[in-house]
Amino acid sequence: MENGVYAGVIIDQVHPMVDRIFHYKVPESMAEQIKIGMRVQVPFGGANKKLEGYVFQLDSSVDIPSEKLKSISRILDSYPAIPENMFPIILWLKEEYHCLTIEAIRCVIPPGLRTNMRKKTRCVVYLNEADNLEEHIDTIEKKSQYMADILRLLAQGDGLFLDQLKAATGAPLSSFKALEKNGLIQIHHQEVYRNPWQYEPDIGKQPKILTEEQEEAISEIHRAISRGYGRILLQGVTGSGKTEVYIHAARKALELNKQVIVLVPEISLTPQTVERFKNHFGQRVAIMHSGLSTGERFDEWHRIQNQQVDIVVGARSAIFVPLQRLGLVIIDEAHEDSYKSDMKPRYHAVDVARKRCELEDAVLLLGSATPSIAQHYMAQNGEYKMIYMKNRIDNNPLPPVEIVDMREEIARGNRSILSGSLYQALLGVLKKGEQAILLLNRRGYAHFVSCRSCGFVLKCGNCDISLTYHAYGKMLKCHYCGQQYSYPSICPKCKSRYIRYFGVGTQRVEEDLKKLLPEARLVRMDTDTTATKGAHRQILEDFREGKYDILLGTQMIAKGLDFPRVTLVGVIVADTALNIPDFRSCEKTFQLITQVAGRAGRGERGGRVIIQTYQPRHYAIRFASKHDYFGFYEEEIRIRRRFCYPPFSHIIRILMLDEEEEQLIKQIKDIENWLRHRIEQNQILKQGLIDIGSYSAPLERINKKYRWQILIRIKTDMLFKQAYHRLLDECLEMFMGVKQTIIADFYPVNLL
Ligand code: ADP
Ligand code: ZN
Ligand code: ZN
Repeated sequence: MENGVYAGVIIDQVHPMVDRIFHYKVPESMAEQIKIGMRVQVPFGGANKKLEGYVFQLDSSVDIPSEKLKSISRILDSYPAIPENMFPIILWLKEEYHCLTIEAIRCVIPPGLRTNMRKKTRCVVYLNEADNLEEHIDTIEKKSQYMADILRLLAQGDGLFLDQLKAATGAPLSSFKALEKNGLIQIHHQEVYRNPWQYEPDIGKQPKILTEEQEEAISEIHRAISRGYGRILLQGVTGSGKTEVYIHAARKALELNKQVIVLVPEISLTPQTVERFKNHFGQRVAIMHSGLSTGERFDEWHRIQNQQVDIVVGARSAIFVPLQRLGLVIIDEAHEDSYKSDMKPRYHAVDVARKRCELEDAVLLLGSATPSIAQHYMAQNGEYKMIYMKNRIDNNPLPPVEIVDMREEIARGNRSILSGSLYQALLGVLKKGEQAILLLNRRGYAHFVSCRSCGFVLKCGNCDISLTYHAYGKMLKCHYCGQQYSYPSICPKCKSRYIRYFGVGTQRVEEDLKKLLPEARLVRMDTDTTATKGAHRQILEDFREGKYDILLGTQMIAKGLDFPRVTLVGVIVADTALNIPDFRSCEKTFQLITQVAGRAGRGERGGRVIIQTYQPRHYAIRFASKHDYFGFYEEEIRIRRRFCYPPFSHIIRILMLDEEEEQLIKQIKDIENWLRHRIEQNQILKQGLIDIGSYSAPLERINKKYRWQILIRIKTDMLFKQAYHRLLDECLEMFMGVKQTIIADFYPVNLL
């Protein structure tokens, strides 16, 4: 037992071997300064290599003999990089998502910290107190016009940036130096924050008169914030004014001296939502998303840390910002899969938010027109209080939706991408000078096989999941049970020969549209055209200003946009996503169509929606065309129950990647056998198991790497989940060394 100050440090290296606390002595010179959460430099290993780490605990004694302990070399920052309230979250992330402690830590530290991002400074010029300034200036003016100009500007408003003063006066640096030498001005290096939002807030705008539904929603949320807890699902049809509710709810939280996080999905991080918050709350809002430079994010983090901010609007990672008085977390479009991280830790921001709210006595507010089936199911089970807003603002009706059966178009000899109906509607829009949005759903592109004459989709007899075409061997496979089928040359249902695997790209559609509608001013928005920073925003702005007639895009256009001049929304092929071999494909199709249909008719001119599909009778399409969430939910939950898909089961996924397919298959079988063996031996694991199997992933090969996965379907009880959490930990430890990449996900959002 030794006394003094000892730090338990997590080393900043992503390696399972160092995923534990290492103890160091804190030299007396640092004992005053050191705090939990600080980033430090420590000697590590036999060669005493200097590594970075984070102080995870501080003790006054340790059980290790003093001579065996090394000392911390340096404290790297003046503040703890890990805010204190983030420690429980870090531990939770590690357990839930099977990541290393350091991977969890990296979620919460300032962005850019590890690349040694520095605070930015700028020179600021101040005027010294002087009597008879005017006289001074007159005298100086005879010697130097520049120096006089500088003083005159400063006399109007003190504390100006040096570079701005230089630009305004044209004066050289020597003029400033001379003034400084004469004791007339001072020049300081001052920390400034890079401001990611250059747009002027227009605060004095007329406040809207809230609708009854909005009032009710806000007072319900207000009550929850006052209590300090609550989980609410705000389900409101598109255009019901949810964003307005968020803003008022945020204001209520601020009035109660609490702070707010607002999450928006990355792809729809349209300026619009952010802008509305900025307009209302001005400088007290910080923004956090990947579109900002690292420097900007670093600065926003520090503004939050320094209590200069009460509201943070951002993408999923913003759930980790260091607010101290969190009272409300708002998650807009809460059903979106972009809240799920695709890197370790594979967290879901909604789940992190839920945990954080629980730990910090805050209210969680999920908002969506189309909550995920699981979210709605939870609300029905009382885990969320449900608030429903069923009317659009001004009682604008939801737009009428027309379903066009593309099989009939083919029968009539129309092989173009536009049905007669959509073509006529587009002509009408162009003639009246209105605007249209066309959606091309690219999910599921080229993977399923369907008949273009009758719409029949080949499905697995055991699983009711569409089969995937595999070019190798010209086979069809089920990715749930592994069953193989031969590729038919004619449709088993209508005997047509137009049976093939499906898929068109946005570019193709753009070219076709140009031929069909040569007059139209067309803009395409997809991952290709929005690769550069700001491109997304620019396209939307141009469209809003009327520089284009038609906006053609992938699912990124479906959400959160509010364009009053859009009177027509068309969906090119609605069924592509229906046939993704994933138990959530219908849910996602329904959501997408409902969301995009909600873009029409937001102004006074009304609007209409045209959905082209090969499966017009599919329930996801039918219910979406009637804007009937509840009808869809009932049907979908019935199917989930029947086939025992989530939320009636829980699926765990172990995905493996390798360039060598044979090796990969052998390895995955080894792991599967190991798992089966362990499950066989343990009563709880055995009781909890529904099924386990290994399959090639639907996306068989990405970047030259083959992809195989083990899916374990278990019962949802906590007891079983915990047992399987431990099994997964054990499994990872056991097979960590293998040369294939293992991606273990206890909460996968898709199985592709
Ligand atoms: P949602 O997010 O539910 O789709 P929005 O919040 O975008 O709906 O609101 C739709 C439109 O209605 C927006 O243009 C918004 O400014 C406007 N709006 C919202 N609430 C009101 C209100 N109480 N009075 C008038 N207009 C409103
Ligand atoms: Zn057919
Ligand atoms: Zn099957």
